[in-house]
Amino acid sequence: MSRPDDHHRKREGARTPEPPGDHPIFVIQKHDATTLHYDFRLEVDGVLKSWAVPKGPSTDPKEKRLAVPTEDHPLDYADFEGVIPEGRYGAGTVMVWDRGTYRNLTRKGGQEVPVTEALGLGHVSVWLEGEKVRGGYALTRFRTGKSEAWLLVKMDDAEAKPGRDLVATEPRSVVSGRTIEEIAAEGF
Ligand code: MN
Repeated sequence: MSRPDDHHRKREGARTPEPPGDHPIFVIQKHDATTLHYDFRLEVDGVLKSWAVPKGPSTDPKEKRLAVPTEDHPLDYADFEGVIPEGRYGAGTVMVWDRGTYRNLTRKGGQEVPVTEALGLGHVSVWLEGEKVRGGYALTRFRTGKSEAWLLVKMDDAEAKPGRDLVATEPRSVVSGRTIEEIAAEGF
């Protein structure tokens, strides 16, 4: 699969004296299925851990966005854009709304908590380097069991921008430049 690392690493390298490594990827896919939502996916242990976020990510730390966990997806699904036919899982139109790399920010007592462990504990913080979405985001589980649910919240950092609405102002695919309607009309 193509990794969008190169230009992100350059941007990040300017600020962060971190040795260049292979940062894991994230992707946010706009998905016009039964109901419109944004699938937020993080590369963890070779798969894409996934949440459906009905309203998409916010840039305002005061906005809590519901994030409902969904099936892990294979890594190469991060590149998928197109139309899933009726009757198939996820039927509807999928757009790569944003993608990039992320870094784990989760700490406990000054120590980094690995993402896998953090997910098990129900709290993970990540720094996203997307083309649209940037900065720290916290994912916190607030309900367990059959109707497990999490919240996706912008952390209060230099990239926090209350009053912006990226979902509305940046509606196009980062891979094809198309809107979800254009993808649906073209059928692929
Ligand atoms: Mn979906």
